[in-house]
Amino acid sequence: MEIKDARFIMSNTDIEKCPKPDRPEYAFIGRSNVGKSSLINMLTNKKSLAKTSGKPGKTRLINHFLINGEWYLVDLPGYGYAQVPKTERLKWEKMLRNYILKRENLYCLFVLIDSRHPAQKADIDFMEWLGISQIPFSIIFTKTDKLKTQELEDNLKAYEEKMFETWETMPGYFVSSSAKGIGKETILSFIEQVNKET
Ligand code: GDP
Repeated sequence: MEIKDARFIMSNTDIEKCPKPDRPEYAFIGRSNVGKSSLINMLTNKKSLAKTSGKPGKTRLINHFLINGEWYLVDLPGYGYAQVPKTERLKWEKMLRNYILKRENLYCLFVLIDSRHPAQKADIDFMEWLGISQIPFSIIFTKTDKLKTQELEDNLKAYEEKMFETWETMPGYFVSSSAKGIGKETILSFIEQVNKET
């Protein structure tokens, strides 16, 4: 699939105010600095559709974009920010939980993981919760251009081993590099396929 048209629709903090759930929706989430904005910009061929964050935790809104007039791409705020005050963090985690559990047209949530780092508890716990809540999701390992082929293989293997502590099978995953354009076709083909099947 080629993304020919990507337009910003709205930002909000309330699932009730999201666009009518009349199209397939795919959301992207990950810890701050994981490369989420860069990935969204790469997928949509835009330089700055998603704002590259700068300050961690700055984007705390559910951002909807309409792609090719057919499906919604959603840029979600990240999680696991230690430096955000607790009351604020709880409020915003509640908003995220609400969105993820209640958004009926959410076909797949992409959980972004930095391919360079060992598994982080916040990500592992979050994916466990997704599993328990039966939310369809896939992992995207980002910034793979920063690793040598062997390092990437080793890191993916280590991540799988960690996942197998709680998962019987490894959830589906993609590898990406926004710097090198890696993963774009695979991720967009996956979305196209899911759109067709449902
Ligand atoms: P976000 O906070 O998750 O939205 O992350 P950004 O997209 O703003 O990226 C955080 C930093 O990582 C920026 O300095 C990006 O230029 C860099 N970055 C993002 N993706 C890649 C990638 O695929 N390869 C490399 N080498 N750097 C990346």
